[in-house]
Amino acid sequence: MKKNEKIISLAMAAMLAMNSNQAISEETSDSSFDEAQSATATNTGAINSALDRQKLVDALKSMKNKPEEINFHSAMCYKMAMPPAVYEYTCPDCGQISTHKYQSIAGRLSRQIASVRRSLPNLPVKISVNETALCQKCSKTGQPELAFTTNCGNCAATFTWKITSDKELAKLDWLFLDYPVKSISSGPGRGKTIDPDKVREMVEFVSGCFFCPECIEKLQLNYKD
Ligand SMILES: [Zn+2]
Ligand SMILES: [Zn+2]
Repeated sequence: MKKNEKIISLAMAAMLAMNSNQAISEETSDSSFDEAQSATATNTGAINSALDRQKLVDALKSMKNKPEEINFHSAMCYKMAMPPAVYEYTCPDCGQISTHKYQSIAGRLSRQIASVRRSLPNLPVKISVNETALCQKCSKTGQPELAFTTNCGNCAATFTWKITSDKELAKLDWLFLDYPVKSISSGPGRGKTIDPDKVREMVEFVSGCFFCPECIEKLQLNYKD
């Protein structure tokens, strides 16, 4: 009898938890709730990331449908007067120091990896990075790259993608924007204020990092043409 009571109360607790989840997901558009939610972010990790994923999907969808609502602004360009010739990368696996030319793709990837590593756990979708290609000792191919594995934010299927060029590395910053975004830095120089092609590029890249191809279609984040 006691055992049954325990099972019933566990079931009740589970139902209550489910109900409160539902209540929360219905309130995502309420901005005062958003504030409350971020205040308790540390206690409600799972609910929080489900909310963040929904926010992300909504943001991407709105970017896809109304690209003209996104503004680009040019950022100040701080050029380092005399960049060092090499960047020393320390492999977190074997501890070996690899020397990369500062302005090479290996150098750029090495300079970015610490902040990428630090930022990935804050994303609403689980993404991990393999950086062994940056270590001259651990690398199997000698080809500098960052290899990512994503657990699709919608169906949890895993898929992989890579960053191997400067162009892709620049796009990586888009992952870490706080969606929904209305104004985006277009980097140094004069950028267009409104740039639908750029927004499309963003939606395609960010969706492709967070969701598997099937889910991109299901979530209507795909472009028809
Ligand atoms: Zn290594
Ligand atoms: Zn999926």
